[in-house]
Amino acid sequence: MNNIIGVDIGGTNVDMGVVREDYEVIEYTRFKTKKDSVSKLLEDICSVVIPLAEKYDCKVIGIGSPGRTADNRTIIRSGNIPYDNTPVVDIVAERTGLEVYLDNDASCALYGEKFAGAGRDVSNMIVITIGTGIGGGIMIDRKTYHGYNNRAGEIGHFIIDINGRPCSCGLHGCFEQYASVKAFITRAKIAAVQNKNSILFKMAGGNIENLGGRLPFRAMALGCEVSEKVIEEYIYYLACGINSLSKIFQPDLFVLTGGLTNEGEIITDMLKPHLLDGVEVKISPLKGKAGLIGAALIKKERESYALPLEKV
Ligand SMILES: [Zn+2]
Repeated sequence: MNNIIGVDIGGTNVDMGVVREDYEVIEYTRFKTKKDSVSKLLEDICSVVIPLAEKYDCKVIGIGSPGRTADNRTIIRSGNIPYDNTPVVDIVAERTGLEVYLDNDASCALYGEKFAGAGRDVSNMIVITIGTGIGGGIMIDRKTYHGYNNRAGEIGHFIIDINGRPCSCGLHGCFEQYASVKAFITRAKIAAVQNKNSILFKMAGGNIENLGGRLPFRAMALGCEVSEKVIEEYIYYLACGINSLSKIFQPDLFVLTGGLTNEGEIITDMLKPHLLDGVEVKISPLKGKAGLIGAALIKKERESYALPLEKV
């Protein structure tokens, strides 16, 4: 494998990098996702790709994006970006002249962990990507489980409370309504407003719009009981989801990426007492780049078990 360009399209940012044969990211760049126009978004990407490909002699580019990619060339739709049966592979290939691969962003995070991260030595693994929503990738006997029409791994939308919070997917009580970063921040804001004497509310300068995912952890470190309660509730729900998945798949390892995993060991330490026996959870060692590295490895992933390159 020569140098490959990896692109990780997120709801907020696009992360791009050149990934070397040893999976090191040798050049990295990030810019805001243009969510109002897919053609502008793809043009932004191509205008960065072309000089990068020339500088590092890249022939291949891999793109990970939210949304359904039934034929691995076209994105049908996505909750965050206005794709409408967009032929992403054809557009980028025509503009850049490169060999282009496309896959779901959570699947890319799985490939990143499988080849370059926490999952190099395990047979069965579930990667949980925690962001605005929750995504997932499932590896069984070192093969990715795609399911019908490439739709498996939507672990943000299994139900953990049948009378629970409404979800954008139309169901109630989905896992991501409790364990996503968005859910965490929403709960923290509610708790801060209800407890205006709390360290959390004061640290937000009395304005909950300043409240992001990190602030409750900083407040908890200073002894904020309100923050501690919000974090404990969040961790409990996260553990419920992980335990349920372990009952179905019993993987050797769960890997958490994105969002709050920047907080590191505090997350795994707080999870541990809630996890069932034999459930192993690690934070991704790839420091937020699992999706980018995995996008660069889509070709390797598909070749590794001779699936048709165009259609899974
Ligand atoms: Zn849902």
